Amino acid sequence: MSIQSNNLKTESSTALPIHVQDLTKKYGEMFALDSVNLDVKSGEFLTLLGPSGSGKTTLLMAIAGFNRPDSGSIRFGDEEVILKPPHKRDVGMVFQSYALFPHMTVAENIAFPLKLRGVSAAETAERVATALKTVQLDGLGDRDIEQLSGGQKQRVALARAFVFRPRILLMDEPLSALDKKLREQMQIELKHLHEQLGVTTVYVTHDQREALTMSDRIVVINKGQLTQIGTPNDIYNHPANAFVADFIGESTMLPLTHDGSGSLYFEDNLIKTNYKTSDAKEWSLVIRPERLTVVKDGQYDPEKTIVFSGVIREFIFQGETAFAMMSVNDKYTLSFRFGTDASSWQNALKPGDLISLGLNRSDVIVIPGGREL
Ligand code: ADP
Ligand code: MG
Repeated sequence: MSIQSNNLKTESSTALPIHVQDLTKKYGEMFALDSVNLDVKSGEFLTLLGPSGSGKTTLLMAIAGFNRPDSGSIRFGDEEVILKPPHKRDVGMVFQSYALFPHMTVAENIAFPLKLRGVSAAETAERVATALKTVQLDGLGDRDIEQLSGGQKQRVALARAFVFRPRILLMDEPLSALDKKLREQMQIELKHLHEQLGVTTVYVTHDQREALTMSDRIVVINKGQLTQIGTPNDIYNHPANAFVADFIGESTMLPLTHDGSGSLYFEDNLIKTNYKTSDAKEWSLVIRPERLTVVKDGQYDPEKTIVFSGVIREFIFQGETAFAMMSVNDKYTLSFRFGTDASSWQNALKPGDLISLGLNRSDVIVIPGGREL
């Protein structure tokens, strides 16, 4: 996306942090939000990621002011906003459904928040023109909304959300109505737009890949509770528990046994040392499929590599990678992935083959507990 938006940039001095404290919202007996605590840093791109029904929209709408929590506090900077109506919170919003005014042109839609704020006609024209350029819709200001594609409508909704230089931008699954190619292109564009505008952004998605692509930090939410907060790298490589490991990326989880003196084993394999039985009752080993590689006898260093042997059960070509499953002792199944370049001998693997898979000790992920069934 071209950088044309100097007059739309949120001054870094005005981008605001958000502090959510002990926020609870019940619908009947069900906790949609259960004592949520969250600090969004000034100017950061933070994503709420969780399955459908986990409370993402409820939290975003509480920040925007469209629903009233039962208890807790929401501050923008030092200012408590929990009792403020949405139009006084100075927040830009983008919804999945676009929520554009169908009887207005593109330019009129984008100008709407400026009109509400009494911005002069001359400045409105200038800001709308810049916003149109920023979202790559120059020249389309006079179009009717119904003449636009889904992707173009979402750009209009976006332009309308930031044209008044809000201090906070909130987006609820804004790309999920778009097809995959356009969605992936828009993810990168939105990320660049955020870099240009510098506005504190809270983004909601149920798509883990989208979250990993776009975010400075990700908050994983499940059943109204925040499960983990971290950078995309933290969340993927150091999941805090089975829910996060399962929800983000692919994984195999294997149960570990504690030897009573601090060491965790999978079958006869020493996985890791220094675990206290007082910290948890059970542990699991999480293995990302792309971290396993086929190894041959005598061709690995047992100090550095943990080796699992078994029989190939499935082998599926999926384009850029192949996906395979190996069963260990007919009891556990390990998934693994590898590249499909023509020279890779792994492409010759077939069900029934006996193989060994190596996991680098530095790729070991141990979590308390196990997979929720
Ligand atoms: P998400 O956006 O993560 O899919 P929501 O925040 O929309 O989840 O919903 C969280 C939970 O609250 C769900 O169980 C949902 O059914 C419930 N819920 C949301 N809005 C209402 C409402 N207005 N009345 C009753 N239950 C609701
Ligand atoms: Mg939702």
